[in-house]
Amino acid sequence: MQRAEVRTLAAGGLSMEQAEQLIENVIGRFSLPFAVATNFTINSRDYLVPMVIEEPSVVAACSFAAKLFRETGGFQTGSDEPVMIGQIQLLDLDDLRVAEAQLRARQADILAEANAQAGSIQARGGGAIGLDFRHIPGTPVGDMLVVHLLFDVRDAMGANAINSALEHIAPLMERITGGRVNLRILSNLSDRRMATARGVVRAKSLETESAPGAEVVSAIIEAGVFAECDPYRAATHNKGIMNGIDAVVLATGNDWRAVEAGAHAYAARDGHYTSLTHWWRDDAGDLHGEIALPLALGIVGGATRAHPAAKIGLQMLGIESARELAEVAAAVGLAQNFAALRALATDGIQRGHMRMHARQLALAAGAVGGQVLLVAQQLIDEGNIRLERAKALIAGGFRDT
Ligand code: NAD
Repeated sequence: MQRAEVRTLAAGGLSMEQAEQLIENVIGRFSLPFAVATNFTINSRDYLVPMVIEEPSVVAACSFAAKLFRETGGFQTGSDEPVMIGQIQLLDLDDLRVAEAQLRARQADILAEANAQAGSIQARGGGAIGLDFRHIPGTPVGDMLVVHLLFDVRDAMGANAINSALEHIAPLMERITGGRVNLRILSNLSDRRMATARGVVRAKSLETESAPGAEVVSAIIEAGVFAECDPYRAATHNKGIMNGIDAVVLATGNDWRAVEAGAHAYAARDGHYTSLTHWWRDDAGDLHGEIALPLALGIVGGATRAHPAAKIGLQMLGIESARELAEVAAAVGLAQNFAALRALATDGIQRGHMRMHARQLALAAGAVGGQVLLVAQQLIDEGNIRLERAKALIAGGFRDT
């Protein structure tokens, strides 16, 4: 990293002028820690992974997990072509099947019209590639034909690109069908743009003082099945996965609300909210994990190049495509999930968390400099990790014991 980049990060990553160019009514900036997760080997390449997150333990957990996966060669990842789905809501139609047939017959014209808006994306090999049709009859507002425009957005997240294309083709669809278009907007359930990651952790590496590796493997698999079967558990399980993924999404200037919406909608795709990961054991007794989720991430557009810290995050990764970024994020999600399950299935997560929590309380109570660690340690030693106690220690001039 260059000196200028270090300075940019230390200064919070964003000037007031830059903030005002990103959104409206800006009155200040809000900084979050920018960290680096280590030990990631993905498809035989080593990565330093930028993570922006306020929650303690996530970066350490990811780095620790990545080290165990690295022992068996790291993560193997994959991804679909970057195809986004744009939706057009067609109403006031006499017959959904007739309207669909009319649109199918003119598909080439519709795609050509969409591509007239694709600009530089088409020049890079992307653009509109197809249509899908979904019938939703008998709704409170009548029969609905939902047309999906499939659009390859290359290295962009693609929201603006596809929304422009949709607005452009809507009048043509009305003319073809005689119907009325209401909404024209991308779907955040970008399930044509999936990313996957898988990896193996040796049972031997999972041994603890009190449990052999095979027992920990079993406990992790049981925890995984719990999340696959129970939505109450799956919500928390997937939240942990998104701890890792969102941190990468933020560090690269991507839209984490879009990614969150897509991940959870995908987790509920069969009408039953379930886990985004799957864990199992091989014949040698080692632990295998796999994750699959939609990841609409860009390396151009949005804030990816407009936010100086995001630019640094992307440079640090040294990636060459939006697909590669999605694959890295998927690997981080799998690593984070593994670390959480391992902790939950062995010591529980509170031990590590309470240490960081104590530090946060010390800060919140007004501790400064070296006092933060001292107060935090005192809270831990007393087994009394509460804000009131931290305040009392500081008010009493606490420096050392
Ligand atoms: P964008 O419009 O800023 O940038 C994409 C453009 O970059 C393309 O149209 C193309 O002209 C250009 N480009 C240059 N090199 C390219 C390459 N290699 N591959 C592809 N395009 C290239 O951004 P976007 O990705 O269309 O939209 C992302 C933004 O939209 C995010 O800020 C997001 O928050 C926002 N958004 C999201 C939603 C949603 O998720 N529901 C809705 C609206 C807007």
